[in-house]
Amino acid sequence: MTKLTGILLAQIARSGPITVAEYMTQCLLHPEHGYYTTHQPIGQAGDFITAPEISQMFGEMLGLCVAQAWMDQGAPTRFTLAELGPGRGTLMADILRATKGVAGFHQAAEIVLVEASPSLQTQQAQTLDGYDVQWASNVTDLPERPLFLIANEFFDCLPIRQYIRTEHGWQEQMIGASNGVLGFILAAQTPTSVFNDAPLGTVLEICPSAAAITADIARIIGAHGGAAMILDYGNLAPAGDTLQAIQNHQKVDPLQDCGASDLTSHVNFHSMSEAANPFAQVSGLTPQGVLLERLGITARAQSLAARLQGDTLENHITAHRRLTHPDEMGQLFKAIAITPRGANHPAGFDL
Ligand code: SAH
Repeated sequence: MTKLTGILLAQIARSGPITVAEYMTQCLLHPEHGYYTTHQPIGQAGDFITAPEISQMFGEMLGLCVAQAWMDQGAPTRFTLAELGPGRGTLMADILRATKGVAGFHQAAEIVLVEASPSLQTQQAQTLDGYDVQWASNVTDLPERPLFLIANEFFDCLPIRQYIRTEHGWQEQMIGASNGVLGFILAAQTPTSVFNDAPLGTVLEICPSAAAITADIARIIGAHGGAAMILDYGNLAPAGDTLQAIQNHQKVDPLQDCGASDLTSHVNFHSMSEAANPFAQVSGLTPQGVLLERLGITARAQSLAARLQGDTLENHITAHRRLTHPDEMGQLFKAIAITPRGANHPAGFDL
């Protein structure tokens, strides 16, 4: 049993079952025993691999997209270049390298990383050595000025609440304990009459912080200009029970070994778009593979390939395929962009 499992069992014994959201928050971000606090999660040696860690081309394409969006909006001379949940800092490093030649872009950019984990902050500082970087713990701390923002695989680790349609109506799925083991239990009926025609067993997931964060970002962009590009795995429609735990590149039981695995859920892009809509415009949902192809990843892949041979060339070809092919990340991962009403949607995004 991990230390955190013991802490949660004691807490539940003291004050009763907890929501899935509270469980995720404790497991991921507990200041001493949380997953992101104690692990080096990302990369081949970690538990999961993300698009920027697969190939530098991912960050290069997004960097050019951000720089183009900045030029489309009149190249403001001071703006925030923000990333949410930057992991090892690889994506931001690739974005900065790809945009070095864009006249005035680096001089105008104030880099802000929104990161909850102190150990990942340290790693980001190392990766981005030589750049002037600031950290914020929340999007509400982002300054009131044009905002160009990237978030890759950030929204999927925000805490969700789950509700299940039972014969009694909707009941919240909670985490309780019996005989010293954590388990899912149902709370009393939730007083709501919505979706009452949903079949028994339907699971509904709600991510309150995703909507709140998206609204905060959209408000700044609507008021001051900018663009947000949000990439994650998910869809427009809710997808049932999507809570999952990954350890050492394998799916594991989400209630086992608290704090030792990465907990995520599918992102609901529909509710994020609804949260942004009062303040700014939202692009159509664009598959990652389509977005990267439109941004020119194939031309970039070919020019890099010309300098490679043997295993490195093979790895490079595999990486291009992993990022873009519909059977790999190309279709599962999707993107939306948020821009001020009337502005061009960023290059590569569906209208
Ligand atoms: N974007 C990176 C890493 C994705 S992993 C990549 O593509 O490789 C998720 C990241 O979000 C980690 O850096 C994690 O520490 C951070 N994170 C998770 N929950 C957070 C929260 N509530 N606030 C800020 N950062 C958070």
